[in-house]
Formats: sequence, C-alpha cells, structure tokens
Amino acid sequence: MKFPNISDIATTSVVSIDIKSTFNEAINKMLENEHRNIIVIDINDFYIMSIIDILNIQAKDVDMNIPLSNLQLSRIPTINKNKNILDTLEYLNNSIEYICVINEDSTLYGLVTHTDITSNIDPDTLMDNYRLQDFLKLGRRMKWVTRHERIASLLQDMVNNFYDNVVVVEDLKPIGIFTTKDIMRLIKNKTELDVEIEEHMSSPVDSIHKNSSVREALSFIKDRHYKRVIVVDDDGSLSGIISQKELISITYSKWAMLMKEYQDELSEINLMLENKNIEYETIASTDALTGLYNRHKFYQLYLSSYTSMVQRHNDMSLILLDIDHFKKVNDVYGHNAGDKTLVQVSHTILKTLRNVDVVCRWGGEEFLVLLPTADMIHAISIAEKLRKAIEELDIDIVGSITSSFGVSLVREGEDMQDVIDRADKALYLAKDSGRNCVKSEADL
Ligand code: GH3
Ligand code: MG
Ligand code: MG
Repeated sequence: MKFPNISDIATTSVVSIDIKSTFNEAINKMLENEHRNIIVIDINDFYIMSIIDILNIQAKDVDMNIPLSNLQLSRIPTINKNKNILDTLEYLNNSIEYICVINEDSTLYGLVTHTDITSNIDPDTLMDNYRLQDFLKLGRRMKWVTRHERIASLLQDMVNNFYDNVVVVEDLKPIGIFTTKDIMRLIKNKTELDVEIEEHMSSPVDSIHKNSSVREALSFIKDRHYKRVIVVDDDGSLSGIISQKELISITYSKWAMLMKEYQDELSEINLMLENKNIEYETIASTDALTGLYNRHKFYQLYLSSYTSMVQRHNDMSLILLDIDHFKKVNDVYGHNAGDKTLVQVSHTILKTLRNVDVVCRWGGEEFLVLLPTADMIHAISIAEKLRKAIEELDIDIVGSITSSFGVSLVREGEDMQDVIDRADKALYLAKDSGRNCVKSEADL
C-alpha cells in the first residue's frame, strides 16, 4: 500500500491573483469563477482569502479599491507537489486548513485542504508509514541492565516502577530479555533469586531496526509469537522496546487524534458559521448608520441587474447624489445633527424610489441609486423628484438642506466604475452650476 503524493490529492482548479491587485478585483475573479476562495500571490509567498474573510473585511467598511497587500490575509504554508501526504501531518497538528501546493520552480500548482488529507489517511496507512522511531518517544520508558544485575535486587525495582520487562545489554547492544513472566516462573519453582540475571534471561534476542514501519514490526511480532519488539539503531545498539499492544493503540490513538482535530475544527467552523451567518449577512450588506445597502451589496445587485439588462436589452441608469455644504451642517449643528440628517435623507430617498430601484450609501454624504429599468430621460426625472423631496425636508434643528445630482446611463460592456465616473463628472458639473440641481452625462 502506497501513500499518495500531494499532487494526487491536490485541487488544481484554484483561482489566484497578484497581491498588487485590489480587493474589488479579487472579488470579481472569485465571482467569475464561482470560487469560495482565492489565492493571493506575493512572489513566493501565498495567502488565502475566503468568503468569510471577505465578509469580515466588508464589515469594517473598507474601500473596495484597497490593494490586497493592505489587507491582513492569512499566509498559507507551501508544500512541493512531489512530497508525500505524510509530510503534511505536521500541518494538520497545527490545525492548518489549507496548504498551497507548488511546482519545482515555486509556482502555484494547486491547493490541498485538511479534508483532502484526512480523507486519505486511515490507521492502516499510518501503520505502513509511521516508523518505529516515531513511536519510541511515545512508548513506555524502558529499563535496561547488564548481565551481572542480580534478580533479587531488580525485582523490587520492577514491581515499584511497573516494568514488565528489562532488556539486558552489553556494549549498548541487547543480548537478552527478562520479563515478569520469567519472575513468576522462578517464584513458582522456588528458584534462588539472588543470582545474576544472565542465568535466567531469554537469550539471544531478535531485534528490529528503528526505521522499520509499524506494520513490519507487527508482522515481526506475529511471525515469532512475541509480545514486544526490541528496537535497535544502525549499529545494533538498543533504541527501545515497544509492545504489540502499544504499537496498535498508539497508531489508533494517533489516527483518532487527527480525526478529532479535524472534527473539532469542522464543528467549530459550522457553529461559527451558523451563529454568524445572519449577523454577517446584515453587517456585510448594510451601512450601520442609515441601514441602506453598502458598496459591496450594491455591487452584487448591480451585477445581477447588469446581467438581466444585457439579456433583456432594457435601459439602466445610475444617479449619484451628494448633499450640498454638508460640512457646514456638521460645523454649525454638530456631528449628531449631521448623522440624523443622513438618516432622514436616506429615508426620503427610499420613500421616493420604487421597489425595484436600489440605493446605497456610497460614501459620507454621497448616495448611489441604481434604476434597473430607466432610460436617461426617466432617470433625470427621478433625480429631479429626489432633489425636490430632499429640498422640502424640514430636518430637526438643521432645517432645510439641498443636494446635487449626476446621472449616467449604463452601456453594455463597461464596468460599473466607468458608469460611476460619468455620474461623478455630471455631479461635479451640478456643483459647479450652483448646486441643488440635476446634471446628466448628456450635459458634459
Ligand atoms: P459640497 O457641497 O461641495 O458637497 O460640500 P460638502 O461640505 O458637502 O462636501 P465635503 O465632501 O467637503 O464634506 C462632506 C462632509 O461630510 C465632511 C464630513 O465630515 C461629513 N461626513 C461624512 N460622513 C459623515 C457621517 O457619517 N456623519 C456626519 N455627521 N458627517 C459625515
Ligand atoms: Mg461629498
Ligand atoms: Mg457634499
């Protein structure tokens, strides 16, 4: 039985992106490829960004155009694709979820997950691949003596310290073994015990090299009807002694430990996801102050509207609006009054729009409106309606305010950013034209 190579179990359908790219570009790439995570490459270092990371980052309301290098992503360890699956076990012990698989020249080959590894490991494979030397530290302490040790004095020590056997060595090499079973026999036969151990030890002894696998040791024991193996170094000197029971129980407990860690981690992740899902979804899609959608959610909704626009050949427009002299509102009436103004303006925008329209808080006192079925003329009239509704507001303490508008039409094949850029230019024209008015890309 052979353990698989990493390349046999790795997933090669991964998406990756350079660390100099933006958060937005990474999300786009994941969406395009329908992947739940993306590998971020910084020359020879690899990072991973998952959906959970995106939600966490979004919850902090970061700018979508932030470079990936400015985000705190988790670095993932790498492993050569020609390595054996056993080489990954140390990572499993450290609860690492992903390992990047790389080619000889350090370029990306694929990804292995905790599941890929654990699903390829069972006690049998561990027995085939764990060496005795790995177990010597785990096994019980051994006792060794010289051939001149007197049985009578050894007896007490064995009883007190629960040794069920001692190895007799000469020049560090095992020459015999003496077990509690031998003691029982001597006592039964009323044999004189104040004699040297060599008189009653079993000798010579068979030994097995510490590089042997657990499975080899088990068949060695089985073939000879032994209960334990004496393990030796290259030069035949004593390394340790392991019982059949220990070989089996250590293998199984090692396997159980790997499975448990995996299970623990899975249930922990599931629990966290369950608890956080609703919370994350709300945090990740809305702006805390106004309750309007945030940029991230807006972008998602934009993409789906864009797709149906392309399919149905309908018109679609954007309105960017910005409150006039809002800095003054803060300066004169305080930041709290400013916040309340933003909330009231948000409600007014929502009330004025139809259900199919989408509005988000784009920035401080800027709002972005998507009209999925409106042509330019229609969009301008809706902007005008919004302008009037905001102008007519009587805001607590603050009184009345005004706002300026830029309108643009979405064209097939362009990015959302291109459409926003045109709306932004129109908005600046509206500001330059004395504020409290609507301008469209047709005015530019
Ligand atoms: P203009 O007519 O040219 O748009 O002038 P303005 O004063 O509105 O524009 P500017 O962009 O210079 O100022 C916007 C102000 O909005 C500055 C900032 O302190 C304030 N602001 C941004 N976000 C918030 C917020 O969440 N609450 C409050 N109270 N103020 C905010
Ligand atoms: Mg502004
Ligand atoms: Mg403003």
